[in-house]
Amino acid sequence: MKLTKKQEKMRAVADRLAAVYPDAACALKWDDDPWKLLIMGCLSAQCTDARVNLTAKELFSLYPTPGDMADADLAELEAILRPCGLFRTKAKNAKESSRMLVETFDGRLPDNMEELLTLPGVGRKVANLCLGDVYHTGSFVTDTHCIRICGRLGFYPESEKNPAKIERLLDPLLPRAEQSDFCHRIVNFGRDTCQARAPKCDICPLADLCEHRKKNS
Ligand code: SF4
Repeated sequence: MKLTKKQEKMRAVADRLAAVYPDAACALKWDDDPWKLLIMGCLSAQCTDARVNLTAKELFSLYPTPGDMADADLAELEAILRPCGLFRTKAKNAKESSRMLVETFDGRLPDNMEELLTLPGVGRKVANLCLGDVYHTGSFVTDTHCIRICGRLGFYPESEKNPAKIERLLDPLLPRAEQSDFCHRIVNFGRDTCQARAPKCDICPLADLCEHRKKNS
C-alpha cells in the first residue's frame, strides 16, 4: 500500500532515530516484570525516571510481589514514595492496583487498554507504555518529549498539546509494533538534542525534516 506523505516522513524520522539510538530500551528499569513497569509508570507522573528508578529499588526490595504491595501499610508506602512527589495518591494507587492485579486479573497484567484503564492511576500514557513494552501492541506514549518533538517536526501544529488527540494523529503513521521503540528513542533524542528550551538544530539528524527549523532559520 502506498504511504501518505506524513507516513513517509514518519518512516524517515523513525529510521534515522533508530540509527542514532539502536538500543531503544525503556528508561525505567523494570526487571522484565510487567507489574513493576505498571507501578513505575504510575510513579513517573511529574517525576524523573532517575528518581523513579532509585525509589523503585527500595520499594520492590520491601514489597517484591503484587500481593506484598496489596498488603502494605499505607503510611509506610507513602514514606517510601515521598521523594517521587504526589506520594499520597501514588501510594494509594500502587496498593489498590496491586490488589486488583491479584484479585481481578490473576496476578497478570491486562493485555488490553480497556482493562488497564480500570486500574487506579493508570491513564492512556502508562497503559500504552505497558502494552508497548510488555505485549508490543501499545500506541504512542504521548509524553512531553513526544508531544514537543512531533509537533516541531510538523506532524500537527506545535500549539497542539492534547495527549489523546496527538496519539490519534500519530497512530496511523507508523506500524503499532514500532511505536513503543520510537517513543523510547524520542525520549533520548529529547534529552540530548531536541531539548525544550535550546534545541541543538545545528547538529540535528532530523533538521531537513523539521518544520520548526524551517520557520526559525
Ligand atoms: S531541527 Fe531542531 S527543533 Fe527540529 S527536531 Fe531537530 S533539534 Fe528539534
